[in-house]
Amino acid sequence: MSRYAEVLLPLPLHSTFSYEVPFDLAKNITVGSRVVVPFGKKKYYTGIVKSLSDIPPGNFEVKEIGLVLDNGKAIVKRPQLQFWDWIADYYLCSAGDVFKAAVPSGLKIESETFIEMSPDYEESPEKSLSQREALIVQALDHAAKRLSIADIEKMTGLKGVGASVGPLLQKGAVIISEKLVERYTPRRIRCVRLTCSHGDNDRIRDMFMAVKGAPKQEKALLALMELSGSNRKDSEPAEVTTEALRERAEVSNPIIHALAEKGIVEFYFKEINRFKYDGLPTTAAPRLSEAQAIALDNIHKSWIDHDVTLLHGVTSSGKTELYQHLIQFVLDNGRQVLFLVPEIALTTQLTTRIQKVFGDKVLVYHSKFSDNERVDIWRRLLAEKDPCVVIGVRSSIFLPFDNLGLVIVDEEHDSSYKQTDPAPRYNARDSAMVLARMHGAKVLLGSATPAVDTYYKAETGKYGLVSLSERFGNAQLPEIQLINTTRERQKGAMDGALSSTAKATIDKALNNGEQAIVFINRRGFSPVAVCSRCGYTPRCECCDVALTYHKAIDSLVCHYCGAKYPLQVTCPACKEPAVRTEGYGTERVEEEIAETWKEIPVARMDLDTTRCKEGHAGLIEEFSSGKARLLVGTQMVTKGLDFEAVGAVAVINADALVNTPDFRSSERAFNTISQVAGRAGRRSSGSKAVVCVQTRQTDSPVYKFVEAHDYLGFFNYEISQRKQYSYPPFTRLIHIYIKHRDSRLADEIARAYAQRLRTLFGNRVLGPEVPQVSRIQSLYIRKLMMKIEVEASMKKVREILRSVYIGFHECGLSGIKSAIVYYDVDPC
Ligand SMILES: [Zn+2]
Ligand SMILES: [Zn+2]
Repeated sequence: MSRYAEVLLPLPLHSTFSYEVPFDLAKNITVGSRVVVPFGKKKYYTGIVKSLSDIPPGNFEVKEIGLVLDNGKAIVKRPQLQFWDWIADYYLCSAGDVFKAAVPSGLKIESETFIEMSPDYEESPEKSLSQREALIVQALDHAAKRLSIADIEKMTGLKGVGASVGPLLQKGAVIISEKLVERYTPRRIRCVRLTCSHGDNDRIRDMFMAVKGAPKQEKALLALMELSGSNRKDSEPAEVTTEALRERAEVSNPIIHALAEKGIVEFYFKEINRFKYDGLPTTAAPRLSEAQAIALDNIHKSWIDHDVTLLHGVTSSGKTELYQHLIQFVLDNGRQVLFLVPEIALTTQLTTRIQKVFGDKVLVYHSKFSDNERVDIWRRLLAEKDPCVVIGVRSSIFLPFDNLGLVIVDEEHDSSYKQTDPAPRYNARDSAMVLARMHGAKVLLGSATPAVDTYYKAETGKYGLVSLSERFGNAQLPEIQLINTTRERQKGAMDGALSSTAKATIDKALNNGEQAIVFINRRGFSPVAVCSRCGYTPRCECCDVALTYHKAIDSLVCHYCGAKYPLQVTCPACKEPAVRTEGYGTERVEEEIAETWKEIPVARMDLDTTRCKEGHAGLIEEFSSGKARLLVGTQMVTKGLDFEAVGAVAVINADALVNTPDFRSSERAFNTISQVAGRAGRRSSGSKAVVCVQTRQTDSPVYKFVEAHDYLGFFNYEISQRKQYSYPPFTRLIHIYIKHRDSRLADEIARAYAQRLRTLFGNRVLGPEVPQVSRIQSLYIRKLMMKIEVEASMKKVREILRSVYIGFHECGLSGIKSAIVYYDVDPC
């Protein structure tokens, strides 16, 4: 009897595909195992077996599975597959999209097309090659082996080689083949061992005879015996790396190679764990203050009736200590913990603290990890029998957990939990709650400034609520000063980015031996370049945005697509040499600060200074060790970092946060300013730290609440606004994006969508509108918005949207084939 498998492929497709399981593979295949299957014309992909059955899938020809990997052991656990389905349904994407995002590419072997010279090819007039084709053939001839398209492009410098393959094939000049490419490479180290069996004294005597007269070789042989413990009878010899041997014997590589040539030693490779923890010895979770102990108790009590509990703790209240105790509790019960953090920025300080208590039970899942590192974590989690804690960024919700007991979401309000591009456009905080439910695990959300939606759910009893309102060690909350920049400018008290008041505040802190942070929500030097004669502003050729001037590279940069342009002083519109840069970004503020405080070392933290993996950690170390005393940065400086000696904070142009055109702007502004203010006065001396917030709109309600450290006041104000205008948490938002190269077609499709959706969803549909940035990377963007009842079935919504999309294709709506249509559920 034949068996059949439904296989999920890492492609943006909505269904699984049926394959027949060849007889010899049938006993070695399980749900969740990796298989290599043919798909399309000649391609091979790694898929995941979603289900197995003895019933043929239907009246069509099914292909056979080519290969079962990992001996058929499941690499995706059952609740995971169920979780992927939930994500696809809720976030309106395909299950293949989820698979693609969830599994590191190192686990997805794919076939690649390879090309080689045909041995029978002879050039003749009717088979003559174009100049391009000749170049390709030359390269293949020269290499004398099969090459991938990328190889050929590299060798010839040609682009789009793929397009020439067809004609070359027709002329009989080349042969193509598909080859499976494994991208994962384990980390290995070179080891060395004796070639004789353990305790073979005769042979060892011969070996020493053989190195007589070569003192260095003799020394190396002795060292190897010592290191491996070969002379001890009772234990197996230990593994010795060539590096360790070189060091112990004080010899160079050729000496060890000489031993190998004499057949005395041999080399081999050993796979090693990339994540070996070799930090400090572990200590117990710290003692809790009375307030913390009460909060811990309340969390446990809250979990009796609630799966999800919100821990609302002011900045510096010591949430991490509570987390440590909770993790201990869950690990002791033999279950796993997932600890979500918004960005790597947070992990450096936090991981060290968690590792100090839990040592190598901690696995870190970094957003800047290489794919190999991702595979290693994945495999380790599959192999690990002991409970562990994974600290990770949003994508760690996809790891193969099999026994989660607790999910902690730290800084739950942070918008980086939401993936905006590409699909799946999921929110890791919300998805983690669903994942936890599938495992029967509890969830703790932690924040000093909870998201309005979250606090609403806690207040109305859907989540439990525990507060921690005392700062650790009784550190005082900083004093917030609103500075009206319009007035300052009129008074002549502001000639740069910082007002005199802010400068005086920073001065005072520095004189006290403290540090200061300056926050500005713009990277680069100047956010605009403009012609002072005619007002012309250089914009990106592919995106509808003004360019930002970066002084370090003396270029204008598009922050949407990364394109760089030279800054031309001569205006292309009026031909006058009058183009100037205006406004402030981190680079320019850094320059101004360095000029004002010449003796004080300054560090800058933004996307440009933290691109490399260690960039972030280095800057944090520089500032927390006191090497730098002033820190300038974007949002990155607001996020949960613990600096003990910050006496002053300045927020430049806070209005840029408040005035973004979406319903969450007040919330985001309140959170960001409160969070950056929270970096000040943590555990420092008796004096109060001061936070200067520079704004032109001092009477905006957001600032009043920030000034008074009044989260609840802000929440009550904001929730009434949301209710009045039917925004989340009272409705669920779905943005529908339509992108097209042709602006007219983008408009037409958007209008057709609006019309069709209104007949189905009525006035829940708003738009279409042209978004503020209406073109990115040469694609015109149109947007529709749907406000859906919170309790509506997303599965149904997905089915309807899909049928509308298919309907447009079937009726041949003009431009739909080349349009990109996607949905963003719960946009951030
Ligand atoms: Zn001009
Ligand atoms: Zn651009």
